[in-house]
Amino acid sequence: MDDRLYRNVMGSFATGVTVITTEVDKVVHGMTANAFMSVSLHPKLVSISIGENARMLQHIKDSKQFAINILSSNQQNQSKQFAGQLKSESEVTFTYFKGLPILEDSLAVITCDLNSEYVVGDHTIFIGNVTGVKLEQKDPLLFSQGKYRELKELEESESPT
Ligand code: FAD
Repeated sequence: MDDRLYRNVMGSFATGVTVITTEVDKVVHGMTANAFMSVSLHPKLVSISIGENARMLQHIKDSKQFAINILSSNQQNQSKQFAGQLKSESEVTFTYFKGLPILEDSLAVITCDLNSEYVVGDHTIFIGNVTGVKLEQKDPLLFSQGKYRELKELEESESPT
């Protein structure tokens, strides 16, 4: 199977965008990720998937906790920064929620204690026990087919008579 076609197919699944944040020895680390999923309601569990070459992998193993910042539509630059895609990076101010550093402008935040981890191919899936959630009235940042996008509401289709 052609890798390019495989990536294009996976990239056609539109997602939101998150920045995973954690702190180790008082140093804050962040990484852009869209491989995020809500897993269970009772108990409340979520999962993220981190590539084997990402520095964030070891940071989460060390801190055993992480925050998932669901980005709002005005955080495109922060998504690029935490994906290492900006030539000149700006200093980011973090606030704290449930003991973890978070990005203040986020649409929503989920804080987690590490529950378990599974190495699957070239990624590690981390399962988190949700310790806190936070929600603002904002629009989400979206990512599809390699581009950032905004939400557009469709007109209601007429119901069949
Ligand atoms: P680093 O390379 O150490 O950090 C990444 C960037 O964040 C660096 O430029 C760094 O300067 C900046 N940064 C880190 N901490 C701070 C701080 N405290 N203050 C200011 N800047 C800071 N990869 C995955 O493994 N899983 C995914 O689900 C995933 N989804 C992605 C979705 C999108 C839309 C994009 C664009 C990328 C995605 N990636 C994903 C790729 C991933 O974001 C990059 O490979 C990333 O660079 C890997 O980060 P790292 O942990 O090695 O951290």
